[in-house]
Amino acid sequence: MTLGVLGGTFDPIHCGHVAAAVAAERALKLRSVMLIPSRLPPHRPEQARVSPMHRLAMTTLAAADHPSWSVSDIELKRDGPSYTFDTLTELIGQGHHASQIFFITGADAFAEIATWSRYPAVLDLAHFAIVARPGITLDSLKKRVPDLADRMTTPESFKPQVKSSSPSDKTRVILIEAATPDISSTEIRRRLGAGESIAGLVPDFVATYIAHHRLYVGTNL
Ligand code: ATP
Ligand code: MG
Repeated sequence: MTLGVLGGTFDPIHCGHVAAAVAAERALKLRSVMLIPSRLPPHRPEQARVSPMHRLAMTTLAAADHPSWSVSDIELKRDGPSYTFDTLTELIGQGHHASQIFFITGADAFAEIATWSRYPAVLDLAHFAIVARPGITLDSLKKRVPDLADRMTTPESFKPQVKSSSPSDKTRVILIEAATPDISSTEIRRRLGAGESIAGLVPDFVATYIAHHRLYVGTNL
């Protein structure tokens, strides 16, 4: 029962997030995908611009188009900043095996992996499925984190393991080439703040929700 997990601020969720999850889902033939909005982004000093409730609602609307996707509020319910280490530990505690979890991360976010809480131990709690993001090539990651070169593989070479807790079973860093659209939440907030259109940048239900609640209007990023 392979599970893809995509965490993010989702402030708001957009078509780039969806494309990254779809790319991982297809490349690794994942059984299901879980979207997890984070409580306080540990790598961003500034707070999310809309309430966790709105971010959770938008994420749920984005997942509605995909029958095997779900949304989890585990990070929103936990006190303090959301660390991937704690989230993966919680998923494993719920019965998921590390070798069945694929933590989906954009190349920009993974480039900072050495600064994450409990690095490098966090890498042992799941496979990491890294999806290219416009502006950051997967090749540049090999230079950025040379220590992880021996863990890196491609979806074609990746061999799923049978469930086992043998210490020799290393979780992998799987590099997924995909042309995800050049969209960021920052740009969407900028556009909404400036009264510009966000047509085509977020799923339709999310666009309707943002317009209905007048989110991000009058904010400066
Ligand atoms: P912000 O501009 O506020 O930082 P963002 O668009 O980067 O927002 P996040 O919520 O920070 O979105 O990203 C969550 C995860 O999704 C990260 O792993 C990020 O790398 C990945 N991601 C976001 N947009 C894309 C994209 N266009 N292509 C591939 N991965 C993406
Ligand atoms: Mg980001």
